[in-house]
Amino acid sequence: MKRILVTGGAGFIGSHLCERLLKEGNDVICLDNFFTGSKKNIVHLLDNKYFELVRHDVIDPYKAEVDEIYNLACPASPIHYQYNPIKTVKTSVMGAINMLGLAKRLKAKILQASTSEVYGDPAIHPQVESYWGNVNCFGPRSCYDEGKRLAETLFLNYHTQNNVKIKIIRIFNTYGPRMHPNDGRVVSNFIVQALTNKPITIYGDGSQTRSFQYVDDLLNGMIKMMNSDDSFIGPVNIGNPGEFTIKQLAEKVIDMTGSKSQIVYEPLPGDDPVRRKPDISLAMEKLDWQPVVKLEQGLANTIAYFDELLKN
Ligand code: NAD
Ligand code: UDP
Repeated sequence: MKRILVTGGAGFIGSHLCERLLKEGNDVICLDNFFTGSKKNIVHLLDNKYFELVRHDVIDPYKAEVDEIYNLACPASPIHYQYNPIKTVKTSVMGAINMLGLAKRLKAKILQASTSEVYGDPAIHPQVESYWGNVNCFGPRSCYDEGKRLAETLFLNYHTQNNVKIKIIRIFNTYGPRMHPNDGRVVSNFIVQALTNKPITIYGDGSQTRSFQYVDDLLNGMIKMMNSDDSFIGPVNIGNPGEFTIKQLAEKVIDMTGSKSQIVYEPLPGDDPVRRKPDISLAMEKLDWQPVVKLEQGLANTIAYFDELLKN
């Protein structure tokens, strides 16, 4: 049995990860400050004697004896990470330093949940890991993008300088049950708007693209990465290469929910990337991983989740 620490474990992805790691027979510590996460996401795990919940902020050091660390603590939706941008930088950077320090002391393996945002508004398409990115260090998204970029740098340097066993995955837009209904991300926004017959808010003209990955596919990639050979540190893209315009997503959600919602167009937020799609050749080669859940199936599961949530 491995002892595993999941920071940000009460969030959308973290809660699914805790659940999966427990199912696989591990002892799990879920650490969270509940900024965007919620006890509701993990309340069903509290009776499991191999699950421990710790309220803690990663900007402060934390000690526990563990074999592996998944570092997910960080708000991920633009509304939430821009709410207190200084705190977002502190969470990414000081959180990385504290967790890397812990991994160093314990000789534990540590995985960083990095992001496709390190590519910024990408000048090459699809995005490969060797691309350095096109990030504005002075814009509204920079607290998140630069925080995550610096975290990658810290991971690399703890590895080269202190032999810490590191793993970096760059996660592309991921969706699924337990996304926060008000967190402003496009999939949850559109589904909640459609189910309540409210206007569907497309920012800009809806021609910008994203590639949407269902959370179960991400978990498979993430755990495969953690369990891969120590010599493979990444960074590796984990995303679904299916590319859709935001308008196509809106139409699909309206269609699948049978909603009466109308589409309305609102201003595009600053620095919103125009196109995004992962090149996953590296993950296929090194991890023998690729996503299997089609957008329609993942959306159906997510719509069913929000439908139930909105009834209560
Ligand atoms: P989320 O907001 O649901 O989860 C983040 C969790 O971190 C929350 O439970 C939150 O309370 C916690 N947290 C935030 N600041 C903290 C702090 N200072 N100390 C302790 N806990 C803190 O978001 P998510 O979508 O589950 O994202 C999880 C991770 O994956 C994040 O690091 C995010 O950057 C990364 N990621 C997500 C996506 C995506 O599409 N969902 C894409 C790329 C990267
Ligand atoms: N978006 C939109 N309407 C919404 C929420 C988001 O048109 O109600 C757009 C947003 O401008 C971006 C895309 O959808 O172009 C994805 O946004 P999200 O916040 O989910 O993720 P990110 O921009 O970080 O990829």
